Amino acid sequence: MSYSAAFRCASRDDTGCATVLPLDQVVYRCPTCGGLLEVVHDLAALRAAHDGAGWRALFDERWRATRWPHDSGVWGKHEVVAPHVRTEHVVSMHEGGTHLMWATRYGRDLGVEQVHVKQCGVSHTGSFKDLGMTVLVSTVNQMIADGRAIPAIACASTGDTSAALAAYAAAAGIRAIVILPRGKISTAQLVQPLANGAQVLALDTDFDGCMRIVQELAANDGVYLANSMNSLRLEGQKTVAMEIVQQLGWEVPDWVIIPGGNLGNVSALGAGFQLLLDLGIITRRPRICVAQAAHASPLYQSYRRDFAPLEPVAARTTLASAIQIGNPVSFGKAVRALRACDGVVEEATEAELADAAARADRTGLFACPHTGVALAALEKLIARGLVRPEHRAVVISTASGLKFADFKVGYHEGTLAEVPAPRWRNVPEELPADYGAVRDAVRRGLGA
Ligand SMILES: *Cc1c(COP(=O)(O)O)cnc(C)c1O
Ligand SMILES: [Zn+2]
Repeated sequence: MSYSAAFRCASRDDTGCATVLPLDQVVYRCPTCGGLLEVVHDLAALRAAHDGAGWRALFDERWRATRWPHDSGVWGKHEVVAPHVRTEHVVSMHEGGTHLMWATRYGRDLGVEQVHVKQCGVSHTGSFKDLGMTVLVSTVNQMIADGRAIPAIACASTGDTSAALAAYAAAAGIRAIVILPRGKISTAQLVQPLANGAQVLALDTDFDGCMRIVQELAANDGVYLANSMNSLRLEGQKTVAMEIVQQLGWEVPDWVIIPGGNLGNVSALGAGFQLLLDLGIITRRPRICVAQAAHASPLYQSYRRDFAPLEPVAARTTLASAIQIGNPVSFGKAVRALRACDGVVEEATEAELADAAARADRTGLFACPHTGVALAALEKLIARGLVRPEHRAVVISTASGLKFADFKVGYHEGTLAEVPAPRWRNVPEELPADYGAVRDAVRRGLGA
């Protein structure tokens, strides 16, 4: 492939640090200044190949194609995502190309004609983490094929990242190591990496303690680190922005609302829209809203003070467990994306996120708690008059609701401690096996 990309220091605009490194170097932070890295593409080569209309036509031709690897939403955009990966080394499980569901009844209920839900949870391991992991694992697969000694890929995680790493590593035949805080993980969160044969190490510490140890393994033992400071993952995740626009007939929505924890995903979204602009595929950006759980909202606190420097918080337990993060690694990148997209930040309490998910479920969705945070934020943006009836709003659903059955059951049973009065509670009615009793119940249900 005649296109190229490289790691560049993401602090460049603030510090002038000019570090550039090849993508097959095992490096997670800038060796000069310690900042995060980002992937930059040779835009001149991409622009020389196609104009905006040309790229649109190429991507449309490959959309949900049958031919491998273009059947993947990520690898259908190979040139602008990971030109360094040669096709024979791609490790793909048909990620991306998820539906953009026009939630008509839900939108009407909220008084906004066009609410769309980007269903990123409809994916191999049930979350958007697959989009980034295919790029990371493909890169490592190629490095191993090229003779590099990489004994394993490791991550510290409690849920979706470890599920995605375990699956993609297993598909490639690469050893995966998952480091988790012991006793803080549910069976559902453990079962995916166990089933995929990852080595699962449960440590007597919290997530941050696991993170420290996995970084030591990466530094001393040649284990490749898959946590989201690794900016290769964001390259895959940025295809969500591209797909949203493509699925709207290459029109830009007014708003995109996304739940945020470590803030890699909103950074990827910002990078995706920037790339679309750079290639002449679109001519303006949407506004972005990051939605945080009130129990873990350091970005919201910063936003309230005009994006003041990050003050890490001790994240409290939240039903939205994947965004229970008090010291987000991609804070700086996220603020840059938000500033570029005239962005805002909202937060949602436990009751707000649970009720918002349940309200959407009543119109046919099955929202995970993180998506619930985004839906609660949408309700707030409408109340504030920022999202207006004529607007087109896209909510990013980050995981499958089916991964969070305990949350749903607890909500409807009324057993969630922080949600004492669920507004949309629905419980089974237990009746004798008697026609009259059943008929009366049905009539009651019909309001007769
Ligand atoms: C990882 C994850 C998030 C948060 O994404 P960040 O990049 O950490 O902001 C949100 N929802 C789900 C389901 C996730 O797995
Ligand atoms: Zn640097």
